[in-house]
Amino acid sequence: MAQHFLLSAQARTLSLKAIYAAGEEKAYATFRKLRWPSTDGAPVCPHCGGLDAYEITTRRRFKCAACGKQFSVTSGTILASRKMSFVDLLAAICIIANAAKGISALQLSRDLDCQHKTAFVLAHKIREAIAAETKGHELDGEVEVDGAYFGGHIRPANHAENRVDRRLAQYQTGKRRVVIAFRERKGRTLTFVERSEADGVDIAKRVVSRSAIMHADEAAHWDALHNGWQVHRINHSEAYCTGDECTNQAESYFSRLRRMVSGQHHFVTPQYLHQYAAHAAWLEDHRREANGELAHRALGLALNHKVSRNWKGYWQRAA
Ligand SMILES: [Zn+2]
Repeated sequence: MAQHFLLSAQARTLSLKAIYAAGEEKAYATFRKLRWPSTDGAPVCPHCGGLDAYEITTRRRFKCAACGKQFSVTSGTILASRKMSFVDLLAAICIIANAAKGISALQLSRDLDCQHKTAFVLAHKIREAIAAETKGHELDGEVEVDGAYFGGHIRPANHAENRVDRRLAQYQTGKRRVVIAFRERKGRTLTFVERSEADGVDIAKRVVSRSAIMHADEAAHWDALHNGWQVHRINHSEAYCTGDECTNQAESYFSRLRRMVSGQHHFVTPQYLHQYAAHAAWLEDHRREANGELAHRALGLALNHKVSRNWKGYWQRAA
């Protein structure tokens, strides 16, 4: 039997051992190459686009010859005002890329020996950057759609006589959300967090090409999709798959997200659920890539993503 890709040596192209053995200078060179790929790491001024800059080597900064402003390899990116060394940042991204079910901030803080706050914001910045990879992507071909509910767990009371019907709206916490996933077969996965799965119909109008063939389950709200697309339906009470009709790839995505939420994060608030959902989608879409490729992809996305409005100065605002 052929060896599974993830078990092969080709799947392991980057390790913490290699990152730390190569050291800070090599890590810095990696950052430069991924920030400025078109010039192979030579600085490009983020203020004016100038290609001529003096290097202030001791501080790892540059001064633009055209506009005179100073900048660094992370200026204007989501990793701006970093306090971690380049080698630690690269290691953090390697750990995040290696974690097939995601990683909690607590675990990351132990691995990196940094504060929980630092790990929390860093991981969320990386999630925001990798989620942007599918920004503006229109889904086409065969597209599966499905939804799954997360959060808002209500603990049953200890004594049976005190227990309530947890399905009733009056006992709900208001924190339950549905993740709606659109997954191209052999393509990308887009995720959305809403209050009701039926909201997926309006989202489909925005993100799914009219030439796509859609696959959905028997839920009545998906009937509306037939107005805009050719839709195959699968009735899960009869079968999970009949030939071509199934939403199995969307289900695979949800099983990864469930393992991520229950195994790593333990609970999620509605506020951050979209970040975990997008992270799981990104991992799912790139699951056949070697880990070095994944880490470089994540770092490249972070260095080409503008400063985050959500995460810049997060703790200063929270304090
Ligand atoms: Zn400039």
